Amino acid sequence: MIKKNSDILEEEIQNICDRVGRNRDEIEIIAVTKTLDLDLIEEAIDYKYNSIGENRVQELERRFIQLEGRDVNYHMIGSLQSNKVKDIVGKVKLIHSVDRMSVARQIQRRSKNKDIVTNVLLQVNIAEEGTKSGLKEEEVMPFIEKVLDNENMRIRGLMTMAPHVEDEEVIRDVFRRLRELKEEIEKKNYEGLTMDYLSMGMTNDYEIAIEEGANILRLGRVIFGERDYSK
Ligand SMILES: *Cc1c(COP(=O)(O)O)cnc(C)c1O
Repeated sequence: MIKKNSDILEEEIQNICDRVGRNRDEIEIIAVTKTLDLDLIEEAIDYKYNSIGENRVQELERRFIQLEGRDVNYHMIGSLQSNKVKDIVGKVKLIHSVDRMSVARQIQRRSKNKDIVTNVLLQVNIAEEGTKSGLKEEEVMPFIEKVLDNENMRIRGLMTMAPHVEDEEVIRDVFRRLRELKEEIEKKNYEGLTMDYLSMGMTNDYEIAIEEGANILRLGRVIFGERDYSK
């Protein structure tokens, strides 16, 4: 099932890229593995995925153990509390969900202790509805200016989640505004800051996300099928 889903997905992504004149190779897929049984995850890794995403620290920690020794990059994509930062620093390739100063401070502190640099994205709540996670648009620039001299936490871009709505224009507007915000930040030419990533697009909206410039897609159901939360 994973192979079939993935091949269909790949064809679709390629088609979207062709249509909008983008290079497929600049888009990375994070396979979102929340709630999944280990055999499915291993199947996905065996087939081709080398980046997996979890939205809870506890689940991520479980994956570190389950998948130990496998060549996998871990991504923290869900809301993060400052007291959990210590459990993932040094183990994740990218934290997509920094949206609070307390979390940023912990990432800096824990990374410095380990003498490493942790790469992060700032999560932005463009839609300002539904989920409460994420900085407001107008908070992003001041936040960046406050953490710029944190040498052990490096901001690499922005992440957002579109609202659960039918109206494609609403979703498109959210993704477009995230891209524009990234461009505004780039114009400031902050020293040492490169805005490499736009993490946006999930199963329901990745087409629009690609059209609007996403280069990280976080995909669960389109690869693995519907999740079973009862387990
Ligand atoms: C679950 C989740 C995804 C993936 O959602 P799908 O609809 O399964 O593609 C992406 N990002 C975050 C933050 C998630 O929690």
